[in-house]
Amino acid sequence: MKSTKGITLIALIITIIVMLILTGVTMNIAVNGGLFNNAQRAVDDTNAEVSSTQDRVDELSGVLDDVASQQDEHNWNRAGDNITCNHCGLSFVIGDYLGYTPDATSQTVTITSEEAGDENDYYYDSTSNTSDKTATVTTTEIKETISNPQVVQTDFPTTQTFTQETGHYWKVLGIEDSDGNGTNETLLIKMASPTENGLYLAGPKGYNNGIDILNKICKELYSSSRYGEARSIKIEDVNNCFQYKPTGGMYYYNGSWIETNGFNTQIKNLPTWETIKANGTYTPDGTNTEEALGSYKVDRYYYYVGGLYYINNAVTGAKTYISLNELCTIFLDINSNNTSYWLATKGVVCNTFVGFGLGAVDYYSVYSVLSMLYSSDSSGRYEYLGICPVVCLKDEIPPKINGPEISIPNYEL
Ligand SMILES: [Zn+2]
Repeated sequence: MKSTKGITLIALIITIIVMLILTGVTMNIAVNGGLFNNAQRAVDDTNAEVSSTQDRVDELSGVLDDVASQQDEHNWNRAGDNITCNHCGLSFVIGDYLGYTPDATSQTVTITSEEAGDENDYYYDSTSNTSDKTATVTTTEIKETISNPQVVQTDFPTTQTFTQETGHYWKVLGIEDSDGNGTNETLLIKMASPTENGLYLAGPKGYNNGIDILNKICKELYSSSRYGEARSIKIEDVNNCFQYKPTGGMYYYNGSWIETNGFNTQIKNLPTWETIKANGTYTPDGTNTEEALGSYKVDRYYYYVGGLYYINNAVTGAKTYISLNELCTIFLDINSNNTSYWLATKGVVCNTFVGFGLGAVDYYSVYSVLSMLYSSDSSGRYEYLGICPVVCLKDEIPPKINGPEISIPNYEL
């Protein structure tokens, strides 16, 4: 848009000379009267003015470009469980099925035990409540212990291979301002039920790498070159959908769970700190010092989602009623056999030691940390849970389709 249109001195002088000839003024009078010096000033002033005007025009056209590009973006707004776009008029209800199909059906993602952890990172026997590496169970048995995962095993997979599972349905989950410009340009959809084949994570490696592993599997297997990129679901997605704002971390003390005031309480400030550090000061990053362990913040929390459509704070029992009945079915698909899945969210949980793990959705509960993978007494654990991809739709939106009816959980807690 930048141009250099102004006037040149030579053009102005030619114009003046023509005018002088027409009006009969002699060249001598004109030169002695300083006419051409004044002409130079006139040219300079005019060109300065043109330049500043051009700058203003450029500025305005920049603003116009921004407005034009924003008009190309979706502008999603949520009222209750209705989501509407102010830009194109598209409208959905949270939980609507969309006809989304990912690309890359032939692709394979392989995760090694170097990334996900293995039996060397796992040795805790819940039966004897001791570390015990001698017991052996099979992979099938491991899968059967999802509800009570703390069983010693020694045949942890050295590689886990994932391919895209076909036939999954996808549901509208929510909206997001992915680029942080103040407009919700992204419509989020989630896989209706988590993957049939789950992911093992164990020990400090599982804790350190779990989020990256989950996002990698989702991105490579469940993205679409046409519609958008996939990532793993995380706890913020669940909270945003319920419009639930957790109020504090939770820790265990004197036989019950206690809630901190917010999420800034460091472990070294807990009443259990003396006990905790006496039991070991191992941290998953390998620093293994009192200072490092004590600096972690208590950010574990969980809540129940009841069939009477409330969220139940697990510590206070305070119930936040959800007016949106169908929301429960977004996360808790009781028609499916595999309702537990990872959240790509790290956290710590405190008792008489500190547990490090990833969050999960487990039947009727949402946890910022369900799956403890490593603890400050150096015992490692593992968990096997499903994967739930979320796709970020920024431009083209798949059509609404009919999907299976999901029973609303009728479960009072
Ligand atoms: Zn739109």
